[in-house]
Formats: sequence, C-alpha cells, structure tokens
Amino acid sequence: MLLYKGGQIANEDTPKLEKADVLVDEKGRISRVGANLKAAGKAEIIDCTACVLMPAMFDVHVHAREPGQEYKENIATCSEAAINGGVTGIVLMPNTNPAIDSGSLVRAVMDRARQSSRIPIWQTGCVTKGRAGEELAGIAGMADAGVPMLTDDGDPVPCPNLLKRAMDYANDFGLPIASHCEVKELSAHGSMNEGSVSYGLGLHGVPAISEEICLDRDIRIAQYTGGHVHIQHVTSARGMLTIRRAKEDGIRVTCEVSPHHLIFNEEDIGDYDTNYKMNPPLRTAEDNEALLQGLIDGVFDVIATDHAPHSEFEKSNDFGNAPYGITGLETAVLSLYNRFIQRGRFGWDILVKRYSAEPRRLLGLDTVPIQEGCPAEFIVVDLEGETTFSKEWMRSKSSNTPFIDQTIAGKIRSVVKGVDCLK
Ligand SMILES: [Zn+2]
Repeated sequence: MLLYKGGQIANEDTPKLEKADVLVDEKGRISRVGANLKAAGKAEIIDCTACVLMPAMFDVHVHAREPGQEYKENIATCSEAAINGGVTGIVLMPNTNPAIDSGSLVRAVMDRARQSSRIPIWQTGCVTKGRAGEELAGIAGMADAGVPMLTDDGDPVPCPNLLKRAMDYANDFGLPIASHCEVKELSAHGSMNEGSVSYGLGLHGVPAISEEICLDRDIRIAQYTGGHVHIQHVTSARGMLTIRRAKEDGIRVTCEVSPHHLIFNEEDIGDYDTNYKMNPPLRTAEDNEALLQGLIDGVFDVIATDHAPHSEFEKSNDFGNAPYGITGLETAVLSLYNRFIQRGRFGWDILVKRYSAEPRRLLGLDTVPIQEGCPAEFIVVDLEGETTFSKEWMRSKSSNTPFIDQTIAGKIRSVVKGVDCLK
C-alpha cells in the first residue's frame, strides 16, 4: 500500500484544493481519502507537502508520426512524452504515412501501441481514403476496429456533400467526426494569422474567416444530418461564438482549444521563430482573451495539445517553408498552471475538467477522480519545484516548442496508474 501524505487534492467540481491524504491499496485502487490518514500495516509513505494531486490528463489530439515519419516521433517516444507531461491516455490522428483509413491499419497501429506504450492509446481513422478528400474511407471497418472518431485532421473535408455522407454514416456507428476547419482557397500557403503583423513581417497570412467559414459549414451539416461534429483547435473569437450559439440551439457540437492558442498570439512570432508556426495559426491578443473566457464559461469541452513533433532540421527552415505544428504533451499542464492558475485566471477545476474528465467522457470512458473506490490514476505536482524544458528533460524525439529551455514553476513529480508509478 502507498500513502500519499500531506498533499492537496484537485477535482473538477471546485476551484479550491482539498487538503487530504490518499491511500492506494495493493490492487491499485484508492481505498481512503481523508485528513490525517494513518498508515496501517506496512504502507509506504510518500511525502506530498506542497504538492497538488490531480486526476491524470487525457489528450484527444496527438500526432505520434508512426507509421512513416518515425524520425520525428514514434508511438513509444510519444507515449513516454505523454507520461512525462502527466498524460495517461492519448488519441492519435490518422495523418500518418500511410494514412490510417482502414480497419486493418487501425488494428496494426493498435497492436504496435500495445507492444510499445505504457499507457492506453486510441487510433482515429480518416474520413476519406488516403485523406485525399475524394471518396469515403472504410468507415464500417474502422468502426469495427474500435476507432473513437473519424477525422482528416491536417486538412478539412473539402466537399460538403462528402462530409454530409460521412456524417450520416459515422452517426450510424455512433462516431463523431472531428473537423480541422479551413477553407484552402482562403488559407492558401499562409504561415501565420493575416493582419497588420503578417503584413509587417512580410509573410503570407491565413485569415480567421478561413477557419470560421468551414466551422460554420461543418456545424450546419451536423445540424442537418443529426451527426456529432467535434471542432478541433479553435483559434478565433468569432468561430467560438458560432459554436456557443450552435450549442444553445442543441446542435451536437463539441470543441477543443489548445494551450498554445490560449497562451500565445501572433505578436510572439517576433524574429520569425518557427516554434510559433502552426495550423491553424496563432491569432490576436483579443482572441487569447476570448478563448480563455470560452474555456472558463464551458464553450470548450476539452483542452487538447495537437502535439505535432518535427525535426530540428525541418523547423530550421525559414518561417514560410517550415512545417506547421509544435509539441505539447510535455508542457501543457505546467504551462497552463503557470500562465493561468498561478495568476488566478482560473482554478484547478478547469484543468481537471477540461484536460482530464471531459476528454475521457468524449470517448465514453470513465473519469479518474481521486475518490475512494476509484482506480488510482493521478499525478503529483510539486508546486515548490521547477522544471526546465530542456531537450535532455524531454522524452519526445522532437523539441519544437516555444518553451524550449525555459524554466517554469512546478514539477510533475509522479504519475501514478494503478499499482505502477509511471514517472
Ligand atoms: Zn488540425
């Protein structure tokens, strides 16, 4: 038995922390939560003074780059990166090489995941064959193989009729369609938000309407078909407003926001730093504030990182030619803590609800609260510690993050899952 003593517990129902000890039995279940627990028998005592214990995170938007681009990341390194950041379940996007567009490919990745990952992994499937946007992928076969959702992430489904048919079909299997919203004719080959900053930097811009128009279209198709659409990585205040109204109208729409779209904006690109290049791009400071409010108000169902590893060689390209995307699994919890919780912008409940509980609910899984009778699946964050996001510290193969080499407050000391201490 393990007795976590002297810590404070975070849960999704209150911004306040509750001071309590946690006893985990030999079956990996939480047998007691309460003040001044005594270690009966030979329990090992873990001193958690100055620590917060919170349910482990779950990320519904991750690129593990396997198969096909293992020089950037693979399932093993991706899952270790997740653990390092306090995440104990991940959902992989299908834009690999080959793209995951059939039941047999889904099974192949899941087999691989079982061999090489210490945490459970879900593989999503493509909406269209080869993500080419031309004909529907083998949806029935992928549903049978256990995909939790379908997506052509990285690209939108360009043809509305194809999306309509996909949503009808996916609905028969109870699967949401996750939409990467972008009108290609508007975003073209833009590398950042379109506006005075892109003009000043001399870079091609992507206007927010590229995202907003597609988002509006996809939500209307969901309304028409009765399907469930999940809007990925929302970046714009107006797009968020559309989602808010759609939810009020009872349309089956859920959505996610990434830590980087909450924390950073176009001004941070500065001297053409490619660690601020992603798709969709960072928007404005006003969008940051609006998205933050949307997270607090509950417009956003989940926080998801869109962990997108790239090699140093690729990211050392000039801004216009560097690939889109940044890593996120290892920095999300601590950066959100530093930026928002520590500064009093929101409480611990938001982090637990939006990055642990709701992502699991989106997949129909049980949540992992720190409560008596529940399986132990939590992280111990030492608030007096600090973390330097160095390459040596990271477990991902890639380190394309704006946080590289920064030192911030807090340290994820342990990641507990059942009887195992993963970190
Ligand atoms: Zn995307």
